[in-house]
Amino acid sequence: MTHPLPASARAWQEKLRRFVDSELIPHEVEAEMNNGDLPPAVVERHRRLARELGLGAMDMPKDVGGGALTMLEQAVVWEQLGRVTNALGWCFHSPGRWLLDASSPYQFKTWVKPNIEGHRDECYAITEPGAGSDVDAIAATARRQGNGYALSGEKWHVTGGNKADHFLFQAKLTDGPHAGSHALFFVDKNTAGIHHVRTPAYSHNYASHHPIYRFENVHVPADNLIGKEGDGLQYTYAWFRYERLMIAARCCGAAARLIDEATAFAKTRMVSGGPLMETQAVQFMLADSLTELWAARLMTYRTAEAIDAGEDVKVSHGQCSMSKLYASEMANRVADRAVQIFGGRGYMRENVAERFFRELRVDRIWEGASEIQRLIVAGSLAKRGQAPLIE
Ligand SMILES: Cc1cc2nc3c(=O)[nH]c(=O)nc-3n(C[C@H](O)[C@H](O)[C@H](O)COP(=O)(O)OP(=O)(O)OC[C@H]3O[C@@H](n4cnc5c(N)ncnc54)[C@H](O)[C@@H]3O)c2cc1C
Repeated sequence: MTHPLPASARAWQEKLRRFVDSELIPHEVEAEMNNGDLPPAVVERHRRLARELGLGAMDMPKDVGGGALTMLEQAVVWEQLGRVTNALGWCFHSPGRWLLDASSPYQFKTWVKPNIEGHRDECYAITEPGAGSDVDAIAATARRQGNGYALSGEKWHVTGGNKADHFLFQAKLTDGPHAGSHALFFVDKNTAGIHHVRTPAYSHNYASHHPIYRFENVHVPADNLIGKEGDGLQYTYAWFRYERLMIAARCCGAAARLIDEATAFAKTRMVSGGPLMETQAVQFMLADSLTELWAARLMTYRTAEAIDAGEDVKVSHGQCSMSKLYASEMANRVADRAVQIFGGRGYMRENVAERFFRELRVDRIWEGASEIQRLIVAGSLAKRGQAPLIE
C-alpha cells in the first residue's frame, strides 16, 4: 500500500471500481458511436445504481440529504469515475457544498434541495465569447429593474445546458453601490428572454453538451441573487477549487486505466518474435507513465487531506492548481504514449486510448487552462514562499 488511505476511502475505492468496471466501461464504445448517448433504460439504470451507491450530492452534509464524504473520499470516487470514457461517470447530481452556504432559505427550497434529491440540475454560465481565462472581463450585465434584475449577455460552453433546468449566471452589476462588481444568479431555463444560440460539436462525444445561450433582458426577482451583490467571484472561485481537484482525481483514474490497458496489450502483442513489452522503448514509456501517475496521485490525495484537515483556503487554492496542472498534463502524456503503444489500433475510436487522447485534452483548458494554473501557483509562491505550499 503506497498511500495510507483510511478504511472508509478504501471502501469507496473498491465499491466504485466494481461499479465502473461492471456497469460503465461495457457501454463506452456504444456511447462513443452514438454521440455520447445510451438507451434511456441504461441511463436510468446507471442513475439508480449511482443513487444506491450513495454518490448523489456527496459534497453536501447528511442533514440536508447529502453524502458528507470527506474531500479525500470524493477524490477517490472521482478517480475511479475518471477511468471510464465518454463521461459515463456523470450519472448523478453533485451540487457543490458552497451552494448550501451561499443560498437563502428560499433558494435552498427552490433549487438546491431538489438538486440534492436529483430532481433539478444546474449548469454554469460564466464564460463568454470575449472572456474565459480572465473571468473579470465578462461583459454580461445585471441591471436593477423593479423588484429584481434584468440580465443580458452571451454565455459559451455551458456544460450540461441540454440537461439542466436552471443556470448559475454570472454578470457584472451596472448600477447601485456595487456597480462593476460580480453577482451570481439562479435563473430558470424557461425564463423569457433566454435564447439557445447553437450547440457546437466538440472533440469528445458526451451526452452532456456545451451549448451557447444569449440572455436578453431576462428579468429575475431579487430573490434569485446568490449571496450579496459583489459576492459573485468568490463563489466562482470556491467552485473552481473543488472542480480543479476533482479534475486532477479523474485524470489520475484515466492514466491508471491507460497504463493497465497498454501494459496488457504490450504483454500479448508479438513484434520481431517477442512480446512488445520486452522492448525497451515501450518499457520506458510505461515506466515514465507509472512514475508520473504516482506523483500526481500523491499530490491529489495530499491536497484533499489538507482540505479535510482545515487548510487555509489560500494555500488550498494554490495546491488545487498544482494538482490540476500536474495531473492533467501527466494524463495527456500518458494518453499520447498509450496511443503509440497500441499503434494503428490506438487510432481507432473503439480503442480506449484513442478516446482518452481526445477527451483528456480539455482538462488542460477548462476550469482554468494550464497557463492560468501556473500564474496562480507562481502568485502563491511569490506571496507565501514555498513552505506552506509544499512542506
Ligand atoms: C468542453 C468545455 C466545457 C466548458 N464548460 C464550461 C461551463 O460549464 N461553464 C463555463 O462558464 N465555462 C465552461 N468552459 C469554458 C472554459 O472554462 C474556458 O474555455 C477556459 O477557462 C479558457 O477560456 P477561453 O476558452 O476563453 O480561452 P482564453 O482565455 O481566450 O485563452 C486562450 C489561451 O490563452 C492562454 N492565456 C490566457 N490568458 C493568459 C495569460 N494571462 N498568460 C498566459 N496565457 C494566457 C490560455 O491559457 C489559453 O491557452 C468550458 C470549455 C470547454 C472547452
